[in-house]
Amino acid sequence: MPELPEVETVRQGLAPAMEGAVITRAAVNRPDLRWPFPDRMAERLTGARVNALRRRSKYILADLDTGETLLVHLGMSGRMTVSGDPLGRFVHEHPQAQKHDHVVLDMDNGARITFNDPRRFGAMDLLETSTAEQHKLLSVLGPEPLGNDFHEDHLTAAFKGRNTPVKSALLDQGIIAGLGNIYVCETLFRAGISPKRKAGQIAAPRVAALVPIIRTVLKDAIRAGGSSLKDFRQANGELGYFQHAFDVYGREGEPCRREGCGGTIARITQSGRSSFYCGKCQR
Ligand SMILES: [Zn+2]
Repeated sequence: MPELPEVETVRQGLAPAMEGAVITRAAVNRPDLRWPFPDRMAERLTGARVNALRRRSKYILADLDTGETLLVHLGMSGRMTVSGDPLGRFVHEHPQAQKHDHVVLDMDNGARITFNDPRRFGAMDLLETSTAEQHKLLSVLGPEPLGNDFHEDHLTAAFKGRNTPVKSALLDQGIIAGLGNIYVCETLFRAGISPKRKAGQIAAPRVAALVPIIRTVLKDAIRAGGSSLKDFRQANGELGYFQHAFDVYGREGEPCRREGCGGTIARITQSGRSSFYCGKCQR
């Protein structure tokens, strides 16, 4: 499942193909994904210019000159592909239409954006730009981890008296938007905090230290994603999936990378999801 850095990488890959360009043709090949598409979606998109491409949490938001914003969520298996080479950096040929190409946007600069989603957990909606933040998917979100509203006072207040494991607290989208399983595991490793520790029982300085660690973990991953975009010429134009070396995620049974630790990475299940951590240096 794509997390914030993957979605940000998709946004960065789409931006040069979409920002400032007009959607000349919108093909909507089925009535729904996770939810029904909005009424007359193809009609409302056709002829619209994309003024800006933003991201909020794991949602991509395309602000249109029609006063509407196209919201895109990739879900579990959604993929965005750019073809058409408007700027000499994407694959030239449009790919053959695939079975699960649900939405295809042709831009006036020659780019084609294809949204493919075999499992259809993704979503698209059109909202009024002026009230976009009130949308049911966006209004429940906490602050952006890379934004100014995310700071140690916020996290300290959110953790205070909380009896749930810190792993669950960091996955709570109302506390911090966009963090998922992978980057929470990585954050807790760098912070030296056990995923099992109760959020309300972590000493104040360690909670405060989580803020810069979360930012660094995400920025490192976004940087890795940005480098992957440079390889587009030989890639197939599919955005958002890149090789990234994790310290604990997916490393069960392997040696801890913290210098001098000597521990082994363990995996436990918390709320139905895997937590990877070192029981020796994460307390
Ligand atoms: Zn360790």
